[in-house]
Amino acid sequence: MNNITFADASSDFDQAKYLIFGAPFDWTTSYRPGTRFGPGAIREASYNFEPFNYEFGISLTNIPVFDMGNLDEWLIIKDVLDDICNMAKNAVINGKFPILLGGEHSVSPGAVRAFEDEKIAVIIIDAHLDFRDSYLGSKNSHACAHRRIADLIGVENVISLGVRSISDEENMNEANFIDSFEIKREGMEKSLKKALKILGNPEKVYMSLDIDGLDPIFAPGTGTPEPFGLTDTDVKYVIDALAAKLVGFDVVEVSPPYDHGQTANLAARLVREVIAATWVANDQKA
Ligand code: MN
Ligand code: MN
Repeated sequence: MNNITFADASSDFDQAKYLIFGAPFDWTTSYRPGTRFGPGAIREASYNFEPFNYEFGISLTNIPVFDMGNLDEWLIIKDVLDDICNMAKNAVINGKFPILLGGEHSVSPGAVRAFEDEKIAVIIIDAHLDFRDSYLGSKNSHACAHRRIADLIGVENVISLGVRSISDEENMNEANFIDSFEIKREGMEKSLKKALKILGNPEKVYMSLDIDGLDPIFAPGTGTPEPFGLTDTDVKYVIDALAAKLVGFDVVEVSPPYDHGQTANLAARLVREVIAATWVANDQKA
């Protein structure tokens, strides 16, 4: 199941402008493991779609994408994060756009670390604030993803959208977030504008999509589902609106054992959206 590559990823490393890689890692997951099967399920689901994206007028077969497969499954999370960072860095220094398929959310700080020499902001979509300093004895738990990213690039350069679960251990006054209730009230367009303003209108944005940011109606196949979530079109809007700024993307927390296919399908479609939207946006910039 993990041997197939993402659909239409027919380029080789040298020619590719997009580098897809999987991190099938779920050892810190607290409630229901299974995201280790995420990358394979997302790849399988990617074959559901037409290569042609009529909205952007581009066929994915004409965009140079290379799927490197999955990183090894390792024993120590520190090695996991180093491997992810090296892989993402390999993309960044060669002018490629890294796309990481999780795995649980603890993998994302590894990819963000690859941008340490560039000034980037990170926009996270998540039901959870993920701002614990440590969880169940681990600073690299998926419950600490926002916090670890903030450690890398500064708390002022990170914001989470769609949050609706915060523990009493987390100092929510320290972290930037817009909760899902405000987004439902005000709309995503206005909320994203507010988020970018909070981040000081960054030129470069890395987007980390924890699939549980979406409502369980759209994404039931995840370890810690939370009601009152964002819609599929909310998330599509964020991708399209950020396209000219995006420098990297990950989708995490897809857990196939709890899925009937729709969560992996949505994740695959959103990856394809990222590729088409950023490709066209960069073409227009050039
Ligand atoms: Mn998360
Ligand atoms: Mn979450």
